[in-house]
Amino acid sequence: MPKEAPLAEHDDNYVVMEEFERFSQKYDVFRRSFWDKHVKTEKSRRFYRTYRDTLDSWRKADGFTQRDYALRNASWHVSDLFTEYKENEDRREGFNDAFTLQREVADEAVEFESPEAAAIEIKRVARGFGADLVGITAMDLRWLYTEKFSDISGTARPNDIPEDLRSVIVTAQAMDYSLIRTAPSALSGAATGLGYSHDALVVLSLAQYLRNLGYRAIASMNDSALAIPFALQAGLGEYSRLGLLITKEFGPRVRLGKVFTDLPLAFDEPIRFGVKEFCDSCRRCADACPVGAIPHGDPSLKRYNKSNLKGVKKWSVDGEKCFGYWAAQNSDCAICVRVCPYNKDYSRWWMRCGRRLAATPIRRFLLWLDIKLGFGERVKPKNWWSRLGTSVSQGSR
Ligand code: SF4
Ligand code: SF4
Repeated sequence: MPKEAPLAEHDDNYVVMEEFERFSQKYDVFRRSFWDKHVKTEKSRRFYRTYRDTLDSWRKADGFTQRDYALRNASWHVSDLFTEYKENEDRREGFNDAFTLQREVADEAVEFESPEAAAIEIKRVARGFGADLVGITAMDLRWLYTEKFSDISGTARPNDIPEDLRSVIVTAQAMDYSLIRTAPSALSGAATGLGYSHDALVVLSLAQYLRNLGYRAIASMNDSALAIPFALQAGLGEYSRLGLLITKEFGPRVRLGKVFTDLPLAFDEPIRFGVKEFCDSCRRCADACPVGAIPHGDPSLKRYNKSNLKGVKKWSVDGEKCFGYWAAQNSDCAICVRVCPYNKDYSRWWMRCGRRLAATPIRRFLLWLDIKLGFGERVKPKNWWSRLGTSVSQGSR
């Protein structure tokens, strides 16, 4: 590896340095919440219980009532069914392990005219299955976990993704902004659950399609590999201060999925549309985070704890602080996602104009205007319920 190998020629906010080390899933902050006393607390146990069991006493606070949790947990239900299906085999598919609920690969392989033609077809099929965004990149061993970790048995084991699966299809599911706008609340967690449930459908169906064509394919959500660098390389968006991908279409409001396959596909190129420069001027996510988990400074090699990747110069989030807040409030938090100015309805031409101007020196004025106009402000969860005429799945996507 060269002394300083950027993720892409023109990418300067996710720079892989010489001291880079591949990441073990064991140190992902969610995995640590099952074994590491710094993260595994009484609050974190209760946090997870709220996804499965009814709370002993429902909180009275708006956004945390039985009805809010009912919706959040129902939105997770499809994803949960897949994840829990093989728990008796010490597998939590989609989060610890890749999906194995797939039929065999067909004996005969369908030939494609070219990798370009195959990529066009695969993207069309993925969108047909409901993917909001699709990009393709090459397998990059840097982003595969060195080992997997089981939340159930508390054991590390080898990552079983074959390294010769040369193509990685990255999908993104948009999360409903009308729900995210209620963050912090259990209600806003319904956007996360719906994202994962849709994601499971897309990656499982797409992988099965490839297998039916006669190619090996493995469907994956948060398991097996770091999704963000693959998504950056697949051209789905740019890296941002809040530690997430910002897409052109949905801002930071996406959940990512991956399908690893041996089908030769044409690869996409990373994109830039001014996010790095905008984040250099903007601090809204960092200012809004209730526990100061998001940095105010420049991209750096700083690691807050062992959940941060080593040797990548970027904006890194303090996952211990962030997860601690989730555990304290009994639901995931999306305040930073809510306040990000890249949450707009880009089907409107004037919003697309604004996105283009955000990449120019007038970005400071746009940022001021965004705040003045009230974008990113919290909507009271009870108001979301009273406006339920808007479909839960469409919201303001
Ligand atoms: S999710 Fe909430 S706690 Fe975590 S970084 Fe964002 S604002 Fe902070
Ligand atoms: S809120 Fe501002 S600084 Fe944070 S990710 Fe969005 S644009 Fe970047």
